[in-house]
Amino acid sequence: MAGIYIHIPFCFSRCGYCDFYKTTKLDKLEPFLVALKSEIKHYSLLFQEKITTLYFGGGTPSLLKSSHFDEIFSLLRDSYIFSENIEITIECNPDDLTKDYIDKLLESGFNRISIGIQSFHEKDLQEMGRRHSSAQALQAIKDAYSGGFRNIGMDLIYGLPWSNTAAFGENLEIVKTLPINHLSAYHLTFEEGTPFDRLLKRGVYREITDSESLNQYELLREFAAKEGFEHYEVSNFCKPGFRSRHNSSYWDGSPYIGFGPGSHSYYSSYRQWNKADLNLYLKSDREKIVEKEVLDISDRVNELIMLGLRTAGGVNLEAIEALDKQMYSKVVAASKKWLQAGNLYNENKFLKCNAKSWFVVDGIIKDLFV
Ligand code: SF4
Repeated sequence: MAGIYIHIPFCFSRCGYCDFYKTTKLDKLEPFLVALKSEIKHYSLLFQEKITTLYFGGGTPSLLKSSHFDEIFSLLRDSYIFSENIEITIECNPDDLTKDYIDKLLESGFNRISIGIQSFHEKDLQEMGRRHSSAQALQAIKDAYSGGFRNIGMDLIYGLPWSNTAAFGENLEIVKTLPINHLSAYHLTFEEGTPFDRLLKRGVYREITDSESLNQYELLREFAAKEGFEHYEVSNFCKPGFRSRHNSSYWDGSPYIGFGPGSHSYYSSYRQWNKADLNLYLKSDREKIVEKEVLDISDRVNELIMLGLRTAGGVNLEAIEALDKQMYSKVVAASKKWLQAGNLYNENKFLKCNAKSWFVVDGIIKDLFV
């Protein structure tokens, strides 16, 4: 199993909470595509794994034309080995999803679509700086389904400073009526350098209280359980058989390669990433773009803990033992108090966090790090 991630670093406008690498300088799109193709070709000799997932994220991949995708797909198919049942996902903004565009995405080969809805409340959308309306969000999902997509995901954001649990519940009531198989629901975080962070520091926004956060998280969990969504990662829920295979490969340690500025790769025990700098990326000088980090044993153990505890699969204790017996003993000793308190449980040598405790999982992870 191996994945390819392609980062399309362009947006028509900036959302106030977002710290993904992106630019609104759309005149750089064509030069970017030239550099992207050069990078795809470059790694074809180095990355020979069979590709089981391909993911276009951003930024806003749905601002590309179908002809752009056709060129990229043709190059990818010439350069890499695609598995027969490859999952091919595109992140889309609702306002880009015309019926014609949906048809073209399917023709290009996409079989999974992830739509950035965030909320169905107009006030939320305006405050967050989203370009779409609630009506457009609903229409986009309806059209994606009637156009032929059968693997549809959407994102929601909760924990908004001006909102409340009841309003979040109204969003979930709408989700119930939609033909989606996957829901990613993220608690708002005030990321350094974003407009929202500046508003927080100026006292215009407040962080909601822990008990408000917990109420919204519990509401989300109850909703998911009642509606038949499996809670398979802290922020991710799906109908049976519809986990995001691409994101799951990040969490289970499969190799992947990222293309585009700011993208990350992981293979052969090292991490590599492109600097988040479009101008540098356009020069296609890999010596200057790429940064690399070889993971030592403790990095790999910590990664198993961090990724495993955030997923339903849990932490593979035997894998840690195989890496280093002393570190394994340390992890086992540190986990005792969490096991006794009922936050963690051990199932066939996999250390798992019960879903209720995912709300505080970051503290548990820190405590188990070697
Ligand atoms: S949330 Fe998406 S659309 Fe908004 S600025 Fe970030 S990448 Fe662009």
